[in-house]
Amino acid sequence: MPSCQLCGKDVDSLKKAKIEGATLKACNSCADMGETVETSTSKRRKKKKKSRTRSTGRRKSKVLASNYGQMIKKAREKEKLSIKEVAESLNEKESVIKKIESQDLKPEKSLASKLEKKFGIELYVNPEVSDVKTESGDDRSATLGDVAEVSD
Ligand SMILES: [Zn+2]
Repeated sequence: MPSCQLCGKDVDSLKKAKIEGATLKACNSCADMGETVETSTSKRRKKKKKSRTRSTGRRKSKVLASNYGQMIKKAREKEKLSIKEVAESLNEKESVIKKIESQDLKPEKSLASKLEKKFGIELYVNPEVSDVKTESGDDRSATLGDVAEVSD
């Protein structure tokens, strides 16, 4: 038979009671002195499963075009502007624009959008079309078929 941890009385059933910060197993009368701790989970709200698929921010996150430097350079040359002129009009350092054109530096989103607006180009593209073939066609690699074919 369990006994009350407070008064030591043997009782049929003990209650969990919070008495002065400690959780004790106490008899009914002792438990009344303290705050009864809910042992049943009936009160606890069932966790609602959120079935709604979590939207991951923007639906289509565009990526910087793989040839962004070229795009900017071409657009700039079309406008017959020097790197310096572009830099000045965008309030950027000449070296920054230069680096971006040579793709040594990825423009920050804010700068990229400034360039987009200035030249009417799109530097951010959907990932699906981001890897369009660049002019340097030296991405030749052995296909799986070539490698896997083993003659006996
Ligand atoms: Zn007791």
